[in-house]
Amino acid sequence: MKVLKFGGTSVGSAQRMKNVAALINDGTQKIVVLSAMSGTTNTLVEITDYLYKKNPEGANDVINRLAAKYGQHVNELYATEEYRTKTQHFMRDQFSYLSSFTKDVFTPFEEKVILAQGELISTNMMTNYLKEQGLDVVLLPALEFMRTDKDGEPDLEYIKEKLLAQLALHPNADLYVTQGFICRNAYGEVDNLQRGGSDYSASLIGAVLQAEEIQIWTDIDGMHNNDPRIVDNTTPVRHLQFEEAAELAYFGAKILHPTCIQPAKFANVPVRLLNTMDPSAEGTTISNQAECGAAHIKAVAAKDNITAIKIKSGRMLLAYGFLRKVFEIFESYQTSIDMICTSEVGVSVTIDNTRHLNEIVADLKQYGTVTVDNDMCIICVVGDLEWENVGFEAKAIDAMRDIPVRMISYGGSNYNISFLIKELDKKRALQSLSQFLFL
Ligand code: ADP
Ligand code: ASP
Ligand code: MG
Repeated sequence: MKVLKFGGTSVGSAQRMKNVAALINDGTQKIVVLSAMSGTTNTLVEITDYLYKKNPEGANDVINRLAAKYGQHVNELYATEEYRTKTQHFMRDQFSYLSSFTKDVFTPFEEKVILAQGELISTNMMTNYLKEQGLDVVLLPALEFMRTDKDGEPDLEYIKEKLLAQLALHPNADLYVTQGFICRNAYGEVDNLQRGGSDYSASLIGAVLQAEEIQIWTDIDGMHNNDPRIVDNTTPVRHLQFEEAAELAYFGAKILHPTCIQPAKFANVPVRLLNTMDPSAEGTTISNQAECGAAHIKAVAAKDNITAIKIKSGRMLLAYGFLRKVFEIFESYQTSIDMICTSEVGVSVTIDNTRHLNEIVADLKQYGTVTVDNDMCIICVVGDLEWENVGFEAKAIDAMRDIPVRMISYGGSNYNISFLIKELDKKRALQSLSQFLFL
């Protein structure tokens, strides 16, 4: 069985939903994971913002606007009175439920419930549409099988057991539809897998079912060799290993949520990135298989909002245990480090979570002189860069020759070279890398 995930833009209008329905209705049984219609989760966040600020009027305004928009979608989507009315009733209940939150105390628990509504609505709309088309379609409620444990990690055994039980109730269905993003936590409360987390839902479902393939359908024809929002003339990469995709996703390639790599990799289920706007395009296949042929640089990505911290100390010279002490400070503030560069007299690291920056800097001052650079950006160059292959580092560094580079990291894996630069130079750096490496 295949698992197909369609993101917000792919289901962003009644017409797009019809296109997705046509695409999945090919006579083979599959599990379809849907995001909320594009913009909806942001609007739900706006509603929660008003509610936290104790402004029910503001929240109701946004709720009413959203309800009107969905009213239009429903009118456009269904051809029969039966399904239009049925879905209108569903919407009415859904939006009056949303309005009920304006009358009560508001806590993170209610916030999570509100954020879950986008996926609950889109899957209901799609299921009703497929039923209207005469298909035997089953809506699998994610809140009954998708669960995280006490550490916030997916509870794979629970997910597998409950999902298989749900599937067993309807073994002969044509299609199964379920919600991405939403789950319950270890205490049974409604929760989610973080923004953009529908990719993660699809990967978890594909992994526990040992699916034939996980397909992530979006609005572009696969992983491009550079960020298409910033650089012109980017082209799709046909094949990536999971590690390469993980580096790109983590370092800013928005097409894929970084969390979705690990479950698929461990279950050895290939992930394909495909384009809803151009379904016949080849897309990108991500698997455990190394590509045949010569090694090469495949793609670059950039991650903003990086802070660099340098600790300079004579005490590091010929001493052991210095790095451990430095790292323990970051660990004690649950702050993970992305890049590291060391010399005999100093160490520089980068972080993207600055919640405890002041405390970290204060503690580091026990060990040396500390300097902080804000508004930095990591540029990540990815490929099968086995160290005995010559020339790749030189090529990447050559592309950066006009850009001030604060740190370079290479050799941590076979898959990437990373540069730390100013955010201001990001566009120039990405353009130059495309020019030197791909054009
Ligand atoms: P969805 O809503 O389907 O999850 P996303 O917006 O999360 O879609 O991801 C798709 C977007 O990712 C594309 O429209 C594209 O602008 C952006 N993107 C950023 N970097 C890359 C890249 N290297 N390759 C392809 N798309 C990328
Ligand atoms: N709807 C959620 C979001 O916008 C999840 C997703 O689309 O992946 O973040
Ligand atoms: Mg996405």
